[in-house]
Amino acid sequence: MFDHDVLIVGGGLAGSRAAVAIVQNEPGLKVGLISKVHPIRSHSVAAQGGMAATLKNVDTEDSWLAHAFDTVKGSDYLADQNAVEVLTRSAPDVIIDLEHLGVLFSRLEDGRIAQRPFGGHSYRRTCYAADKTGHAILHELVSNLFRYGTKVYLEWYVLQLIHEEGEVKGVVAYCIETGEIEVIRAKAVLFATGGYGRVYNTTSNDFASTGDGLCLTATAGLPLQDMEFVQFHPTGLYPVGVLISEAVRGEGAYLINDQGERFMANYSDSHNKMELSPRDITSRHIVQEVRAGRGIKRGPFVHLDVRHLGREKIISRIPFAREEGMRLLGIDCIDAPLPVRPTVHYSMGGIPTTVDCEVLGVDRKPIPGFFAAGECACVSVHGANRLGSNSLLECVVFGKRAGEKIGAYVQDRPMPTLEERPYVQEAEKLIKSLLNKKGTARIHDIRTALQDAMTEHCGIFRDQQSIQKGLQEVQKLKERYEKDLNLDDRGTIFNMELMAALELRSLFTVGEMILASALQRRESRGAHYRSDYQQRDDAQFLKHSLVYLSQDKTGIETNTCAVDLSLQTVDPERFMPQERKY
Ligand SMILES: Cc1cc2nc3c(=O)[nH]c(=O)nc-3n(C[C@H](O)[C@H](O)[C@H](O)COP(=O)(O)OP(=O)(O)OC[C@H]3O[C@@H](n4cnc5c(N)ncnc54)[C@H](O)[C@@H]3O)c2cc1C
Repeated sequence: MFDHDVLIVGGGLAGSRAAVAIVQNEPGLKVGLISKVHPIRSHSVAAQGGMAATLKNVDTEDSWLAHAFDTVKGSDYLADQNAVEVLTRSAPDVIIDLEHLGVLFSRLEDGRIAQRPFGGHSYRRTCYAADKTGHAILHELVSNLFRYGTKVYLEWYVLQLIHEEGEVKGVVAYCIETGEIEVIRAKAVLFATGGYGRVYNTTSNDFASTGDGLCLTATAGLPLQDMEFVQFHPTGLYPVGVLISEAVRGEGAYLINDQGERFMANYSDSHNKMELSPRDITSRHIVQEVRAGRGIKRGPFVHLDVRHLGREKIISRIPFAREEGMRLLGIDCIDAPLPVRPTVHYSMGGIPTTVDCEVLGVDRKPIPGFFAAGECACVSVHGANRLGSNSLLECVVFGKRAGEKIGAYVQDRPMPTLEERPYVQEAEKLIKSLLNKKGTARIHDIRTALQDAMTEHCGIFRDQQSIQKGLQEVQKLKERYEKDLNLDDRGTIFNMELMAALELRSLFTVGEMILASALQRRESRGAHYRSDYQQRDDAQFLKHSLVYLSQDKTGIETNTCAVDLSLQTVDPERFMPQERKY
């Protein structure tokens, strides 16, 4: 058994920022960071467009309050306004912190940090490093991690969260290189495990975004919040789904249908802001154009056109988007428009936390020893729809807060006691049972069928019938996984097939929880659009949903998940709900 004062799961922006905060403030603490991929390869490295903060370098009349209002309106009024206040008030300081750590942001002529417009933001406030912002930030954070001597468990996979006697005591982990299983005990565990884009068949997310942290939390008997809100980014490159950053529209790109129209003008909720409307609205309109037969050559995509920006602007501001078009499709956007369609991008829901990143249990009380931050957490600053460039911000603001909170928290907390043996035995049994799978179905086939079912039945538009169908299909696929899976590689050294089998468990759990939550929310809000309930219904549903894995199989309308929409009313505090138009 290994011991740490603090164990951080995840080396993306949230996990690394937390680790750096702890080692800087409390150098005496023994901090461990565990990651199934090298931290530099966490999905955060792929973030492109930037990070919002009211530095007022470009638009001097901007304010944190305007940023807060935009965020709450963008969230379709579901965000917790106290958490949004923390996010937006802290934003300028965390950017300066990053700069002091060594992050190189793009500049204005006079040397100050540049800021660009982004969807749903009413001022130019997104700070960026060309269109490779995540790369610039994560590299600095990770080199600081190593500089301060944090113990990093490289390519270890967390199999289980140890939650007993009402508190979290550590994790069970598997070393991908050697097959070794270890219990890692800690006074505090922080989950910063990122999103779950791989539950769907078309996503901007990396292969490792399989929602493991969400699955492990649910399996430990804890609830997840607002899982029905899945963000589709409007401009995934067709057909691959790889992201073309919102920075491209921020810099002035047009969305064009087959008739050559800038179609966003034709919809009442987007005719002012046009291409810079928020993602939920823009994604829906692209799909509506395609369904009306106005996709390019009647195909399932529209065009993203930047030709009018000119060569110089394209090369200096959005070089990566250009590279992606050339590398993946052989199209140079200087000369021709890019084909795009919505792609699954971000998870608004997740592990419910306080503004100090303490994880909330069934009774809405913090679970001793357990914290979460970043995309896997639901604090909730994004409510039903996240604004672009608010996620990197969330990771850094709440990662840092988590680090500060945990650094103080563990000072008075004794090392928890636990018996290691049963956990190791259980993990050995799990690995052995997977290695012994000798059915006929390949992981790839089952995973693709699951991703197709989720995309078909719980995509941008959904209704009761489709969701129920989705739940049935997921059940069937789960049975196939249990009874008929086959693994070819039966070794324990770098067995990536075994990893894929473990990740597929996470995809099933997360998929079911999305479906079960989507079924219960009988209204349309933000990214959750029910064709059978097209209006937002504040009287009944200005509430967070909580979903549990039910032990007794008495869950509502699904035999494995129970959804509770009764308790978590959102208090509007500062900004009262209004109709959402852009
Ligand atoms: C292509 C793309 C572009 C984006 N651009 C922007 C942008 O410009 N602005 C913006 O605000 N947001 C952007 N986002 C969103 C933003 O990048 C992410 O929400 C954010 O980076 C998530 O960071 P994180 O630290 O929460 O998780 P991640 O960076 O995803 O890291 C997750 C970590 O958890 C570890 N992990 C997971 N499961 C396990 C396990 N079982 N065992 C061990 N380790 C585990 C992984 O190894 C990894 O280190 C973008 C997202 C994508 C996909």
